[in-house]
Amino acid sequence: MKLPTCWSCDYKFKWKELIFFIEGRKKCPKCEEKQYTTTHSKWKMGMVFLPAWLCTFINLYLTISLFLICYYFMLYQVEFTDKQQPLY
Ligand SMILES: [Zn+2]
Repeated sequence: MKLPTCWSCDYKFKWKELIFFIEGRKKCPKCEEKQYTTTHSKWKMGMVFLPAWLCTFINLYLTISLFLICYYFMLYQVEFTDKQQPLY
């Protein structure tokens, strides 16, 4: 597993820089280029959360902890590109 890199200068994002990122607003700290997530990575990010969604019917506390774990793994699924891409 590796963290996403900048599409322009290959800057490797740090984990803490990705905790709060908003689609299209994320900028590379090195070259200042805007970062958009790819369609492929959006789907992968959604898939990571699937087990957590399923658990919402079972136990709330379990769901919250699962969401935190899923979020951690989700950040490794992010891929950045230069243009905004549709979900489909
Ligand atoms: Zn960059």
